[in-house]
Amino acid sequence: MANTPADKKASGKETVFSGIKPTARPHLGNYLGMIKQAVALQESYQCIYGVVDLHAITKPQKPEELTQNTRDIVLDLLALGIDPERSILFVQSHVPAHSELAWIFNSITPISWLDRLGPYKEETAVNSQLNQVGILDYPVLMTADILLYKATCVPVGEDQLPHIDVANEIAKRFNHLFGKTFDPIKPLLTEAKRIMSLAEPKKKMSKSGDAGISLGDSADEIRKKIKRAVTDSGSEIRYSPGAKPAVSNLLTIYGELSGKPVADIEKMYAGKGYADFKNDLAQVVADYFADFRARRAELQNDRVYVSGVLADGAARAAAIADKTLKEVKAKMGFLM
Ligand code: ATP
Ligand code: MG
Repeated sequence: MANTPADKKASGKETVFSGIKPTARPHLGNYLGMIKQAVALQESYQCIYGVVDLHAITKPQKPEELTQNTRDIVLDLLALGIDPERSILFVQSHVPAHSELAWIFNSITPISWLDRLGPYKEETAVNSQLNQVGILDYPVLMTADILLYKATCVPVGEDQLPHIDVANEIAKRFNHLFGKTFDPIKPLLTEAKRIMSLAEPKKKMSKSGDAGISLGDSADEIRKKIKRAVTDSGSEIRYSPGAKPAVSNLLTIYGELSGKPVADIEKMYAGKGYADFKNDLAQVVADYFADFRARRAELQNDRVYVSGVLADGAARAAAIADKTLKEVKAKMGFLM
């Protein structure tokens, strides 16, 4: 095959890594912030995508739900266009090197790099029961996820930027202590880097909070949710995140899914009210995911194919990851 990840690497293409947690079905924010770019990047990069179940367990998970959520996200990614012929798609816990490199990186990461992070502070402030070491430590595991593949590009939403900074700090410290091993990592952001909740437009749409529009929603559910979305005071359809956070968020979604510039959409609705705008947006969102829903329904019945994709993905990921882990251990003086 002319287009496998190994060939792309050989041709000098940069490596992309990204992960998504199997804590619930993906939502519109996950799609527009991360998955849509992940699909597009397959054209020209060596892409490696993980369903990061070891991250999911940093918050309590019911065993049967973790299994189901992992299966669901794999189906979602395949149906959205992650192509196992061109990319590596795998489940993180199938490649033990992730846990091992995270442990090694723990030994060079000061706690102060982790406990000052916004997402950690916010989560523990909201829920004092969340005091497991894993909540604090997951940026270290995320660093291992990326550096095991020597990935330099990471498509992510804006909420992940502090974690990419930590990953770069850990990479620098490793290079300093044991010799140049890792290159800097660049986050890749889209225009939709932070899609907000439809109910509380000051909060990000989240699997663990307000899931907003889930990719598991039917066309009818999508329409209902968009019609129920909160709006701002004043009836004007105008992009202004400070003054009109709710409508601006809806305009971003409209623009991303229709391919129209936001300025054109504002003109289309000049003099019209929220009801017209929301009706059309509901249709745009429902239509955009119609093919996805059909493809996913087909894939769901093909368990043999999906298991094959994951076995192949884990083997290909492990081949790269084990090589990096070996290099790291040799540099650190582990007896080989
Ligand atoms: P959780 O609430 O459990 O953390 P999540 O919705 O944040 O779930 P993740 O699996 O943590 O989803 O994130 C997967 C990817 O989606 C990450 O790159 C993340 O930055 C991105 N992402 C998450 N929420 C949004 C959002 N609202 N807008 C844009 N990108 C997002
Ligand atoms: Mg998250």
